[in-house]
Amino acid sequence: MGRPTKMIGLIGGMSWESSAEYYRILNQGVRERLGPTASARCLLWSFNFSEIEELQHKGDWEGLALRMIDAARRLEAGGADVLVICTNTMHRMAPAVQAAVKVPLLHIADPTAQRIKAAGFATVGLLGTAFTMEQDFYKGRLSEDHGLRVIVPDEPDRAVIHRIIYEELVAGKVTAESREAYRGVIARLVQRGAEAIILGCTEIMLLVRPEDSPVPIFDTTALHAEAAIAFALSG
Ligand code: GLU
Repeated sequence: MGRPTKMIGLIGGMSWESSAEYYRILNQGVRERLGPTASARCLLWSFNFSEIEELQHKGDWEGLALRMIDAARRLEAGGADVLVICTNTMHRMAPAVQAAVKVPLLHIADPTAQRIKAAGFATVGLLGTAFTMEQDFYKGRLSEDHGLRVIVPDEPDRAVIHRIIYEELVAGKVTAESREAYRGVIARLVQRGAEAIILGCTEIMLLVRPEDSPVPIFDTTALHAEAAIAFALSG
């Protein structure tokens, strides 16, 4: 029978390149803890990312919120005990999603901030989509709820980070040239005082490795998936 675990509801496909990483990390994590044949009980609602990114770039956050709420309700109705939004950017509507369901939503910024503080860092550099780096829904949570000081790249660097995410990483394209560009942006954040770097987009871990940064990196994909494993095995 195996040990019972809670059902993880994944709102994914944003993009599927990172949802596949969540699926791998969840299953590997449960295997490590419960044994070689154990795997994560989960449900995945996977969007067509073309539709999502079009609405994002049009600024139709209301239309996106409706889609996210619909996905959350379907996962809850399907038996999910906890919800995980597999993208940083779409946490813009995390409060609306949480308000629409009874099961808890694990916010991606929380395990990330907790790990950063536990490591003793106070000032972090944030890499992500322009939405994540420029709007307040994510930086605000890091600073107001967790007391971190957040530095984002300057405008030209933000444009490069954003372009590589949408033109390359979500399409499964990983190049040495783009890795070099990210290394440069990270170095400039460190010069400006970043003690650690948040990979605040769930695809960046496909490109950037620990050795690409002179300071520790905190990968939101891995930390979020680890938090989901801990929840699934709790209680
Ligand atoms: N997965 C990315 C993130 O973590 C970008 C894709 C999206 O906009 O959802 O923000």
